[in-house]
Amino acid sequence: MIGKVIVDVPTNQTDRLFDYIIPEVYQETVVPGIRVVVPFGPRKVQGFVVALSETSEYELHKLKPIEELVDVTPPLTGELLTLAEWLKEKSLSFYIAVLKVMLPAAMRAKYKKELWINGEEQLPQLPHTIASIFTDTKTPVDWDDLQKNGNEIQRKEIAKAVKEKILLVKPVVGTQETKKKRVIVEPVLSKEELEIRKLELSKGAKKQQELIHFFIENRDPIPVTEIIEKLKTSRSTIQTLVQKGILQQGEIEVRRDPYEGRVFTPSESLPLTDEQGVVLQTILKSLQSGKHETFLLRGVTGSGKTEVYLQAIEKALSLGKEAIVLVPEISLTPQMVTRFKERFGSEVAVLHSALSKGEKYDEWRRIREKEVKVAVGARSAIFAPFENLGMIIIDEEHETSYKQEESPRYHARDVAIERGKYYQCPVILGSATPSLESFARAKKGVYHLVTMEKRVNDVKMPEVTITDMREELRDGNRSMFSNVLLDAMKLRLERNEQIVLFLNRRGYSTFIMCRDCGYVAECPHCDISLTYHRANQSLQCHYCGHMETIPTRCPGCEGDSIRFFGSGTQKVEEELVKVLPDVRVIRMDVDTTRKKGSHEKLLDKFGRGEGDVLLGTQMIAKGLDFPNITLVGVLAADSMLHLPDFRSAERTFQLLTQVSGRAGRHEKTGEVIVQTYTPEHYSIQDVQQHDFVSFFQKEMMIRKQRGYPPYYFLALIHVSDVELTNVVDVTEKIAKFLRTRLSETTMIFGPVASSIPRIKDRYRYQCMIKYKVEPKLTETLEEIIKTYQGEMARSGLSIVIDTNPYMML
Ligand code: ADP
Ligand code: ZN
Repeated sequence: MIGKVIVDVPTNQTDRLFDYIIPEVYQETVVPGIRVVVPFGPRKVQGFVVALSETSEYELHKLKPIEELVDVTPPLTGELLTLAEWLKEKSLSFYIAVLKVMLPAAMRAKYKKELWINGEEQLPQLPHTIASIFTDTKTPVDWDDLQKNGNEIQRKEIAKAVKEKILLVKPVVGTQETKKKRVIVEPVLSKEELEIRKLELSKGAKKQQELIHFFIENRDPIPVTEIIEKLKTSRSTIQTLVQKGILQQGEIEVRRDPYEGRVFTPSESLPLTDEQGVVLQTILKSLQSGKHETFLLRGVTGSGKTEVYLQAIEKALSLGKEAIVLVPEISLTPQMVTRFKERFGSEVAVLHSALSKGEKYDEWRRIREKEVKVAVGARSAIFAPFENLGMIIIDEEHETSYKQEESPRYHARDVAIERGKYYQCPVILGSATPSLESFARAKKGVYHLVTMEKRVNDVKMPEVTITDMREELRDGNRSMFSNVLLDAMKLRLERNEQIVLFLNRRGYSTFIMCRDCGYVAECPHCDISLTYHRANQSLQCHYCGHMETIPTRCPGCEGDSIRFFGSGTQKVEEELVKVLPDVRVIRMDVDTTRKKGSHEKLLDKFGRGEGDVLLGTQMIAKGLDFPNITLVGVLAADSMLHLPDFRSAERTFQLLTQVSGRAGRHEKTGEVIVQTYTPEHYSIQDVQQHDFVSFFQKEMMIRKQRGYPPYYFLALIHVSDVELTNVVDVTEKIAKFLRTRLSETTMIFGPVASSIPRIKDRYRYQCMIKYKVEPKLTETLEEIIKTYQGEMARSGLSIVIDTNPYMML
């Protein structure tokens, strides 16, 4: 038998199937989807068997055998292997990159080298300086450890000994999968025999009697630590009985549980509102008919989308099927996890970035081994290896975090729909502010549009006030807070209600500028301004990490008018305490949430009412559901509008709507105050009216005029190199090539410098393709990669192609 293998070597030349002989011993166990170790040139690498074959185009005696199996059961299912082929083509990625992205990080191969003594007979030759490193000739030493921890002399001696073949270096392929083990103890003898042995013990051996007694009643293996705790017994007592052949010790694997110790109170389905009921029935019809359909559920904030998801999944489970729920960066919305845990208990696996590698691996195995039926997670959870999917849900479907910005550049929405087609199951895209692409598709009937316009229990949408910060300035208010916002905050403090203050920080970091000459401190390696860091009084580049001290005089004009601009959450907190001295602020930003679990702790604290104001950036915009929040203040609402990105208005509208949605979700009415310098902009006006459809129409007109999605598809080719002339040259050639190859209706823009023209001393140029229908696109792009693959391997030239770009920088 021949195994067709994709090797873990991500280059253009190796991006194909390689044939390997399956040795006799592995005939039964090698199946598609399994990981193996194979010889590849002088090395050994990991690979995935993607197919089996009786024959090979190559001469059999030239083929090498598979050396090792990494898995017992294949981690990738047949469906995922099929999906990989589709994804490879769609994202123009290496096959291996696509296969690896489907598995948890712990399952990626780890390559290392081992140092061995080359047989007993070499022992006398071994210099004493390095002899001490080894325990014997059968135990190797880790090469990397030695290079890191050994001393200079040892490293020299080792190199010499390797040359003289006294020592051997062997490359090995390992994995990072670690299973958590626990020592257990269990009875060896039958109940009756245990009784007899108990009677034989001397009267004084009380502890041993107790232990035997325990195992007369409990025959199951039990962790040693647990029984010590339970019987207040000791390790030595257990040891004694093991030595007497009454008990035996062993090891069992325990799954790490990221939610260990947490109690989730089971929750029941709520009786649905009319709107929820209609939506649920529509979705269930599709589920029961066993036909794939993509639904776009547009429901205003607080309309009860989550309850619809929960009940839809319940139904899927009752049909014996499984479900995937994607939420954006789930660690940011612990409330969401709780709701799923409360409803589905131990049937849920949670996959998100705050888990350790090991925890993620164990959660993934719960899915693969069919211990759970629901996976809730961030983007990569879309690859959860279920084999009988009945429902896929993407909450906040407009979120850009669903697009992976490194190879393979995939969008989880596309993957969801592809899997939905395979399993013929419904896919639900939910949002209060759907992406323009999705809503346009829904209006055309490609997706099935379902809508919930009302909040649950007739709770009113919050009232939104827009304050013009230019006017505040004219009236002499130089503080961060408008008078309206300040008064509103005072009122909430009096009433003991809670406030959310949102600082839209993206594209609005603190930088320093000279008031006289306009000098802005910029990174010497990247064409971007440096960010001011208060903690260590430095200026830092957020792209390359460059750091420098703050100049006291302006390097441009020697003047002393250097000032800080922009404002961070810390600064807001300081200002806030100045104007409202007794206010209790809980600040949530990258600085206060670095530690694992801190995010959740801060939210819990706020939920218990131990803070009046929750102050934060993007991370507080979503998923919060606290009844006592009656005021949301947005500082600098328009800071994102000026980013060089055609989606900036859409993002502004989405974000403002999300934040506003945190206010007055329950009995108490909510109020939102939006501070802006551009109050007339439609993305801000339409937030005031809670009018998604109006925003959609205006934004669509603009997209149409300017030829952007959803009217056109985009593809972006990024070229970068340390040599500016080479970048320009290559991008020019690419643009020319595109113009000769692609159809006349397709537009090609470029070459132009990217909006950040230099990062880490690499110059960046780009070429944008806009098209409606372009059958030759994939083929043409692949040809570009082929043309330059040699140069890319040799020099520092990099060409990155994104067939669905979201980051325009
Ligand atoms: P969305 O996700 O649309 O913003 P949620 O699902 O968070 O809305 O629902 C808002 C609030 O309404 C939550 O506290 C939820 O428990 C509650 N809720 C949802 N559906 C119902 C219902 N049918 N009856 C009563 N309360 C509900
Ligand atoms: Zn830099």
